[in-house]
Amino acid sequence: MDRTLVILKPSAIARELAGAVISRFERRGLIIQGLKMISLDDEILNEHYAHLVGKPFFPSILRSMKATPVVVMVLAGRDAVNVVRKMTGATNGRAAELGTIRGDFCVSNQENIVHASDSPESASAEIKRFFRPEELFDYQPAKIRTIYADDEV
Ligand code: ADP
Repeated sequence: MDRTLVILKPSAIARELAGAVISRFERRGLIIQGLKMISLDDEILNEHYAHLVGKPFFPSILRSMKATPVVVMVLAGRDAVNVVRKMTGATNGRAAELGTIRGDFCVSNQENIVHASDSPESASAEIKRFFRPEELFDYQPAKIRTIYADDEV
């Protein structure tokens, strides 16, 4: 099993889409191993979006990500990083394919509903950034044998 980090951004919380987005992950067969609501501050956002700090739109991202609390989640599954990134869709909601979360729920480049880790290395760093070990639960739901074949888990 692999783990990935998802953030339901203020654009999801303010539009009351948290349940709809979480439901998609559950329906797909991803397992929620951690979930909580937190407020983000400049310190954690500067770290999380370090690759964008010099961009002219970075102050706008900071404002956007602090507009409401966010929900952070750890999802588990085989190849969870890739599976969840594909479900998330292209960064710009206007370019995202229909059927993806961004393609179905937004039309903005910035207000794009979710963050999802883009590699196993990022996932590992991001999970540590947002969760303490005791906040994560490494269980297998009873339905696991209906989600994967024996040799997939
Ligand atoms: P992704 O979230 O798809 O991994 P990036 O890491 O490139 O994409 O960007 C992080 C977030 O910053 C995006 O999800 C989006 O909210 C915001 N962002 C990226 N590029 C722009 C842009 N050109 N204008 C406004 N916001 C942007």
